Amino acid sequence: MGSQEVTTSQDTWHGKNITVAGLGVSGISAARALAGFGASVTVVDGGDSEGHREKAALLKEAGISVQLGDSTTLPEGTELVVTSPGWKPSSPLFAEAAAAGVDVVGDVEIAWRLRGPNAAPWLAITGTNGKTTTTQMLASILDAAGLRTAAVGNIGTPIIDVVLEGDDAYDVFAVELSSYQLHWAPSLRAHSGAVLNLAPDHLDWHGSMEAYAADKGRIYEGNQVACVYNVADKATEDLVVEADVEEGCRAIGFTLGTPGPSELGVVDGILVDRAFVENRQKNAQELAEVADVNPPAPHNIANALAAAALARAFGVEPQAVREGLRNFRPDAHRIEHVADVDGVAYVDDSKATNTHATQASLASYESIVWIAGGLAKGATFDELVTGAAKRLRGVVLIGADRALIREALQRHAPEVPVVDLDRTDTGAMSAAVQEAARLAREGDTVLMAPACASMDMFTNYNKRGEAFAEAVRELGATSG
Ligand code: ADP
Repeated sequence: MGSQEVTTSQDTWHGKNITVAGLGVSGISAARALAGFGASVTVVDGGDSEGHREKAALLKEAGISVQLGDSTTLPEGTELVVTSPGWKPSSPLFAEAAAAGVDVVGDVEIAWRLRGPNAAPWLAITGTNGKTTTTQMLASILDAAGLRTAAVGNIGTPIIDVVLEGDDAYDVFAVELSSYQLHWAPSLRAHSGAVLNLAPDHLDWHGSMEAYAADKGRIYEGNQVACVYNVADKATEDLVVEADVEEGCRAIGFTLGTPGPSELGVVDGILVDRAFVENRQKNAQELAEVADVNPPAPHNIANALAAAALARAFGVEPQAVREGLRNFRPDAHRIEHVADVDGVAYVDDSKATNTHATQASLASYESIVWIAGGLAKGATFDELVTGAAKRLRGVVLIGADRALIREALQRHAPEVPVVDLDRTDTGAMSAAVQEAARLAREGDTVLMAPACASMDMFTNYNKRGEAFAEAVRELGATSG
């Protein structure tokens, strides 16, 4: 089925005045799709650089209006605002929309509304950490089961573009959803959903932990088969209890311990299913071995169990779970071993952009020189530092909010040597690695797991990870 034949909503969009907030990847995708269905689209963006103008020129060729340099004025006659994930709910444009009685939705909501009557179901994943990994694991499992699938959402191709390929193109989607996307997707109803974990993150965007949790919890709304939660994280289970689901939908827990009925867990190094089996009071089904998970670190085994739970909810056979997990390779900058120099391991966990992720990686090594700092996004570091104090050989701090980490170290680990680089320039990473090398002893791990976002110093966490790897290579070249 071609995109013109996705019929459910053509009439809904025709002639409608839609304002798209943000000239990024998802904004452009939404603008083009909606204009393609005959909507009258204006994209607004506060920027006005050459890059913005080039993108604007391309959109104008497609009959789309663009308002650059002004992201606060709602264009006259707007009937619906489609926002990009980065825009805060407190953005002035949305206040104007609210005052005018105009709905604000995100790209995921648009994708959902554009689906045809026989569209592939969504297996949806959210959580503070592990979303991308788990979504990719799930896609790998579905693929091993011979299903036509794609990992989409907060990952890869914009979700609208994938939906527009038509109802016949896929059997099922593995969908990663951020709390932002969930916030703006009121009518989403997944086949099954999972919240992997919940820790304070992005509180500056959501306003409070309650609001953040509530947005994550939307993933369970209307689930048909399974709401997958983390037994070790009660807040995720609470969200299941609060959700309004379809009749017959089950709550399925995952745990690193022995699973009870309706749970997936681990017994003697085997991942087992006590949820999707005949007579779950008595029976358990072997799915895979812990050694099939890459890497087999505790937090990642939890991710594998969550992916397996969603796949099993969709009817995937145990053999495909094992094969899919074996085939899966994690993306770069996620607890990635870069090199050994002089008996010290250098590990890049640049993707650890919050304390919860960093806690998982600090728990994975015995003796650590920790490189940390960047943009804290409203986080506090006391708990993280207290938990890791015993493992810290030393700490090197970089980035804008490093004082917050330094103060937590002073409070809870005053004996640990700290080098505060007092730098936020891109070259600081090289200096940080050299300082870390000086603090490290043979057998230690230098772990760059900043617990902060990267944008004060780098374009993104990828660039931060690359800078780290480059600095480690330089170190290797100069070491005896
Ligand atoms: P997300 O897409 O949610 O940001 P990723 O899979 O990209 O998650 O992993 C982000 C970071 O979180 C990485 O540093 C990774 O090592 C860590 N991580 C992955 N899974 C978990 C988990 N289940 N619990 C805690 N930290 C995790």
